Amino acid sequence: MPHPALVFDFGNVVAFFDYARACEAIGRPRGLDGSSLLETARRAGLAEPLLAFESGRMGSEQFCRAASRLLGVDLPVDEFAAAWADIFWPNESIVPLIRALADNGHRLILGSNTNPLHSNHFRRQFAETLALFDHLVLSFEVGHVKPAPEFFLACAEAAGAPPADCVFIDDLPENVEGARQAGLIGVHYVDTPTLAADLRALGIPVPSSPR
Ligand SMILES: [Mg+2]
Repeated sequence: MPHPALVFDFGNVVAFFDYARACEAIGRPRGLDGSSLLETARRAGLAEPLLAFESGRMGSEQFCRAASRLLGVDLPVDEFAAAWADIFWPNESIVPLIRALADNGHRLILGSNTNPLHSNHFRRQFAETLALFDHLVLSFEVGHVKPAPEFFLACAEAAGAPPADCVFIDDLPENVEGARQAGLIGVHYVDTPTLAADLRALGIPVPSSPR
């Protein structure tokens, strides 16, 4: 495997995110605490509409209405959508590594469980970094969410490489395991120095302090 394709998860790998940010923005003007709002919504079953949204079975407007109801707030869809989308901040440490891998000629794929609200937002917010990627494989577009094998196979197909020639990097152990089950090489992202060491162990040259 001299020159594998590299598939990066987005959330908590390329950029960090926290739903509590959205809940703070929604709750603050109403005198509500963001973390408790999120906890309430989670207990009320937020995971279900979120999964439907990220697998492409639910549209943005329907999701906003469902999530807004679970949070117990009555917000115009546009306002809810804007707050819900703004949850990301950059993982500064990983950008130079991604750039070095692109410079070395690796095919780079983004493989993200996401939805139209988040991906429209993060594609603008991280346009410069995402321009280094050859393809973006987004769950709501391919109709499968990680850790379903179909998702990982869609990433290999986007890379134009057999699964065994693709390295899948994700912060969630179940996704790393899913990638391995689908025949890709799974790497668990903990932090950027560990990732650099893990890639070197796979025979992928990574500069010691990429910039
Ligand atoms: Mg992630």
